[in-house]
Amino acid sequence: AKNEGRNTYRFFEAKMGVEVRERRLLEHDLRHAIARDELRLVYQPQKVVLSDTISGFEALLRWRHPTRGEISPAVFIPIAEETGAILQIGDWVLRTACREAASWTQPLKIAVNVSAVQLYNASFVGELHQILLDTGLPPRRLEIEITETALVRDFNRALAMLRQIKAIGIAIAMDDFGTGYSSLSNLRAFPFDRIKIDGSFIKSVNSNGQAATIVRAVLGLGRGLGLPVIAEGVETAAELKFLQDESCTEVQGYLLGRPAAIGSFRHYTHGDVAL
Ligand code: C2E
Ligand code: CA
Ligand code: CA
Ligand code: CA
Repeated sequence: AKNEGRNTYRFFEAKMGVEVRERRLLEHDLRHAIARDELRLVYQPQKVVLSDTISGFEALLRWRHPTRGEISPAVFIPIAEETGAILQIGDWVLRTACREAASWTQPLKIAVNVSAVQLYNASFVGELHQILLDTGLPPRRLEIEITETALVRDFNRALAMLRQIKAIGIAIAMDDFGTGYSSLSNLRAFPFDRIKIDGSFIKSVNSNGQAATIVRAVLGLGRGLGLPVIAEGVETAAELKFLQDESCTEVQGYLLGRPAAIGSFRHYTHGDVAL
């Protein structure tokens, strides 16, 4: 039993070693990912339920590592946040997404995820301004998606930042609503333009009464506060039907379109916007 304990410990130690090495490698490689042209954006359509048209796209970051292949943003974004690499990467994401959207003949919106580390960076608002100037994208066509977790770290600073962003004319969406440190008072305190219900609630909306209750409550809250609500992670016709019946304004998910290279959406970006 004594040996077993030691072996288990050794195994654990070895596994930790691999994880630490793996992480160091990703940390290092991430620093060169932009210069080596390994990052790209994919785009996922956001559909207006009532009018059956698309209002815009969410830009989602992808990293193709030269030897490890595709690495999920759920894995590398937290690393980039810890090392500070997110500042450079986030700037690249915003610039690339705005340049892309500015080239469309249809004035669709572009939603970009912004991390807390970016938001709290003193030069962020100035950079946003510069990117809009450089790309010529009208501010009202840009929406940034921020999670509540990003805001609770320093309430006053976050509020000041969001107000400045709002003053430029950029829209702000509260991402992943219902998860993390959700607090209803945050919805009133911060100048949000819309709420994004987290996909985890949508997934179980037809099987789990609690999830359905939460989704209904968030939709009611949005109506009460005059904030449009978008549901993410919509995968089935039954989920869409539920959201339609509950008067959800917008939907996004695999059912309506998987995140893909923008070229595959040319029909919407350069032609007829009806889905
Ligand atoms: P998120 O912002 O909540 O994005 C939604 C995630 O759900 C995306 O995963 C998207 O591909 C996925 N998704 C979309 N429709 C469906 C669906 O119908 N079913 C399911 N199961 N999933 C769906 P992805 O692209 O892997 O991104 C994961 C997270 O990484 C994002 O969550 C966001 O937090 C972060 N992220 C992605 N791109 C960026 C970025 O450019 N900057 C920052 N800061 N974070 C990013
Ligand atoms: Ca998002
Ligand atoms: Ca989300
Ligand atoms: Ca999320």
